[in-house]
Amino acid sequence: MSPLLLAGSCRTAEVPDGARALERVKWQVAQGPRIPGTPGHTAVRGWIASELTRLGGRIERQAFVDTVAGRAWPLENIIGRFGPASGRRIALFAHFDTRPWADEDPDSSKHDQPVPGANDGGSGVAVLLEVAELMHARAPDVGVDLVFLDGEDFGHSTQPDHYSRGSRGYASRLPPTGDAARPVAGFLFDMVGDADLGIWDEANSAARATNLVELVHEASRATAARHFHPEARHIVIDDHIPLLEAGLPTVDIIDFDYPAWHTVADTPDKISAASLAEVSRVAAWLVYRSALAKR
Ligand SMILES: [Zn+2]
Repeated sequence: MSPLLLAGSCRTAEVPDGARALERVKWQVAQGPRIPGTPGHTAVRGWIASELTRLGGRIERQAFVDTVAGRAWPLENIIGRFGPASGRRIALFAHFDTRPWADEDPDSSKHDQPVPGANDGGSGVAVLLEVAELMHARAPDVGVDLVFLDGEDFGHSTQPDHYSRGSRGYASRLPPTGDAARPVAGFLFDMVGDADLGIWDEANSAARATNLVELVHEASRATAARHFHPEARHIVIDDHIPLLEAGLPTVDIIDFDYPAWHTVADTPDKISAASLAEVSRVAAWLVYRSALAKR
């Protein structure tokens, strides 16, 4: 290999691969629903841990049993730590579980069927693993925790506290403020693969993590992410809420204009490699180029 080629491969180290991310979405959906206690959930959880290990992450598993809707659910968050073990840390979050019931499906006979979770579950996982690929190629200067949350999607609108159970478990285990192991900022990626991508500011994030929302604006400008819109549109209950309540500023990066949301049509044909690549570039900018990324 010539020095010129070597230089070229270094320059491209931070370029995410949208096709690879899309393959990871398809692979997750092919395992079946990722409902805690099911084979698909076990398979995807094990795969996330082995991918993180292969890519050089230091793994922590947070296993606990939570009771939701009168049932005990075995949950397990998986954390992959990258970059320096000391100094400032930031965290990127995605949930890997999928919703047990497709209660927004236009066909009410399907409301008891599980959601395939290509976008709602699969896409965020694929983006975080794409960041892991980049960090495997070049370690970031800042500590980065990739946090794969379990148990996000049990809730109903009448019982909002049934949502984000994995995030609550993570928040309750956060080291105290000032502890070096505690991240100072969080970026949540949820439903970020829609081929018809449109990411608007989420209102809870804009109100409670204003600086981070502005950082995402900066990231989208810097990476020419033309499907990011710096204006609030939706207010969403998601995994960032327990984190905000625990004092960890976190922005929810979410495309909530997704017709297949919580339906049996949330399948990989709705997802594009281009959208996954665009969001992964924003995530990579946060990890490598933002003010938080400097030591
Ligand atoms: Zn959902």
